[in-house]
Amino acid sequence: MKYKCSCCGQEHDEWPALTFYTPTPYNDLTENEKKTLGQIGNDFCVITYPNQTERFIRCTLTQKVIDHCDNLEYGIWVSVSEKSYQDYYDNFENNNHVTEYFGWLCSRIPVYEDTLSVPTTVLTKAGNSRPEVFPHKDFDHPFVKDYYVGITKAEAERRIKSMLKNTGQHSDNE
Ligand SMILES: [Zn+2]
Repeated sequence: MKYKCSCCGQEHDEWPALTFYTPTPYNDLTENEKKTLGQIGNDFCVITYPNQTERFIRCTLTQKVIDHCDNLEYGIWVSVSEKSYQDYYDNFENNNHVTEYFGWLCSRIPVYEDTLSVPTTVLTKAGNSRPEVFPHKDFDHPFVKDYYVGITKAEAERRIKSMLKNTGQHSDNE
């Protein structure tokens, strides 16, 4: 799909968002565990382990691209506290709910060794958009560095191609 870019006036291919439809800890469950321990929806996921419960919400993350008009969009999951989860759940239909939560990244972004324990700030948005995730800048991790420095257009296109190749899309490259 091409569109005329408002930034440079030229035609671009439209980049798809790189979307994870389920959080990685859910993917890691067996089929039976998914049925017995997991609850999954488009925006919410709960895993009830014998000793603890983990709660996840679906968000977006915008990876800056240095040499291009567009940024690369990710659909990713973070785990949040029970209190934050409940607050987000209770206000899901509330268009004026703007707040922030602490969240741990729970999607394994290909290219990086492991992005599962990256601390983030989750900002909910007015309207019906999904919350935006910002990795904590002081956390020493290649993913965090790339997030703030930006990646090249070539790297973004490589990531898109590789995601599309694994048509499962929510593939974790495990
Ligand atoms: Zn452009």
